[in-house]
Amino acid sequence: MSVQVLAAKMAEVELKDVPGKELTPESPLTPKTDDKGIVENEPKATSATTPTMEPIVKTGDTSPGFLTPNTKMPQASAMKRTDPQQNGGEAFVNRDGTVAEAPRLKKIQFADQKQEFNKRPTKIGRRSLSRSISQSSTDSYGSAASYTDSSDDETSPRDKQQKNSKGNGDFCIKNIKQADFGRREIEIAEQEMPALMALRKRAQGEKPLAGAKVVGCTHITAQTAVLMETLTALGAQCRWAACNIYSTQNEVAAALAEGGFSVFAWKGESEDDFWWCIDRCVNLEGWQPNMILDDGGDLTHWIYKKYPNMFKKIKGIVEESVTGVHRLYQLSKAGKLCVPAMNVNDSVTKQKFDNLYCCRESILDGLKRTTDVMFGGKQVVVCGYGEVGKGCCAALKAMGSIVYVTEIDPICALQACMDGFRLVKLNEVIRQVDIVITCTGNKNVVVREYLDRMKNGCIVCNMGHSNTEIDVASLRTPELTWERVRSQVDHVIWPDGKRIVLLAEGRLLNLSCSTVPTFVLSITATTQALALIELYNAPEGRYKQDVYLLPKKMDEYVASLHLPTFDAHLTELSDEQAKYLGLNKNGPFKPNYYRY
Ligand code: NAD
Repeated sequence: MSVQVLAAKMAEVELKDVPGKELTPESPLTPKTDDKGIVENEPKATSATTPTMEPIVKTGDTSPGFLTPNTKMPQASAMKRTDPQQNGGEAFVNRDGTVAEAPRLKKIQFADQKQEFNKRPTKIGRRSLSRSISQSSTDSYGSAASYTDSSDDETSPRDKQQKNSKGNGDFCIKNIKQADFGRREIEIAEQEMPALMALRKRAQGEKPLAGAKVVGCTHITAQTAVLMETLTALGAQCRWAACNIYSTQNEVAAALAEGGFSVFAWKGESEDDFWWCIDRCVNLEGWQPNMILDDGGDLTHWIYKKYPNMFKKIKGIVEESVTGVHRLYQLSKAGKLCVPAMNVNDSVTKQKFDNLYCCRESILDGLKRTTDVMFGGKQVVVCGYGEVGKGCCAALKAMGSIVYVTEIDPICALQACMDGFRLVKLNEVIRQVDIVITCTGNKNVVVREYLDRMKNGCIVCNMGHSNTEIDVASLRTPELTWERVRSQVDHVIWPDGKRIVLLAEGRLLNLSCSTVPTFVLSITATTQALALIELYNAPEGRYKQDVYLLPKKMDEYVASLHLPTFDAHLTELSDEQAKYLGLNKNGPFKPNYYRY
């Protein structure tokens, strides 16, 4: 059975509860928007060829596949990026092949030159790395918390010889004895990841990833474990490293190692450890990856730098993060991308769910865990009313906070007003607010002048990608005293005794101090799994050496797989209605330029 038919079968399982999901060949809208590989308001593709999806479902097959026949994928060059974080400056590929980023994006430090790895990382090394590496990985979301305290064991995992109960030692983690605890964490996550569980069930016997050797570099959390185990159920072999030195849940890594996965990760890696772990994933005699699942681009970069020949066997890259995608586009632009890549970050199901819903839930969690603050009646100013700002404002308003918004964009500003928030300039409220939250993706939004004027006890934190939204550096002056009061919580004290409460030193609050909702991650993980299946099984020539967006049909499919959780009943278009709207009854239901 081909992967297409299998995918179609998989689709049936969840969609049978959702009326109106029989596959019909194609939406009349698709060619209109996609014929030239461009969508409205987007720059024209510079590439001469626009890839066309071949029919993914055999003629006569009426099941919904996860990609519709003739769906065309916008190419790298056909994408307009409006996020200043992504688009703010030029990123470029150096002559030596390294990817350098724009002035506005802090350059990611690679351990390019390091062939030899140090044996023993220092504690200082571990700490300083949070700035050099996590910059590339904090734009995607994983649980920041490990529930096991491993601080009692200072031995570097690299110095330990560990084996799982079957005698396998091809992993490097903190402590294999935490496996049982990690397994329970994974089981909890499974409850909130219905689509992956459905894929597993559906796959029974069919292995669309049979022969796939997936090397992954993502946050190693319970949610990732569910994804990895799903990929294995679909036939893949996986080797995995962490994309962030702090986000690994040690107990989950232990459970994965116990389950036979080659995992190289632990919470609190040094920079040297970070690259060593990635290298251990790919540099193995007798095993070569043929698929990459990356989050931040570090793994991809490492293979480019150290093992370029591996790309002869690699069928594709699936990339999740803003930063990683940005690097792929630059490689593509420079003509150096040697395999097809899927941009998961810009799929609707990622952008519209991660940013809004993830932040709506995790802003309260992050603030509560660090400060125990009560929200009711508190005056809060949220800087930026994009997806993240909207999520934060909605959550705080619901808790009874008085919420002010600052914006530079009149459209978002008007949205804020019409949603019932007072639009202000920061200097108008800075003396009175109890909490300041930045969500702009910009820099120097909260500068020293504002910090000086805040009232005693004001909580200051950031939910945006970059740790430059709050000018933390300006607080490191001799007259101010810093007091670490809790993990990720500093009191910065002025000479007159006034203190502000700075969270996570201005880094992403929810990533640094809380967990993020599993269900949101499920949506992204499902998209990743489907992207891997598609790239792995695509016939020669379907994808060129370029970056592809997931077709809307796939986004709709991922969304529909999550609907049964809510016992949601989707309305089916009648033939007459479909004709009236010029739509295929089975989607896609919106043109590519639709904003949701
Ligand atoms: P967005 O572009 O939709 O929203 C940002 C908003 O900030 C825009 O409306 C912009 O006009 C406004 N803005 C820019 N400069 C400003 C300034 N000086 N003062 C006031 N407003 C200003 O982006 P988004 O999706 O909301 O993401 C915002 C940031 O959060 C990005 O850096 C993104 O990478 C990050 N992010 C974080 C999480 C998380 O879990 N914490 C999740 C997704 C995205």
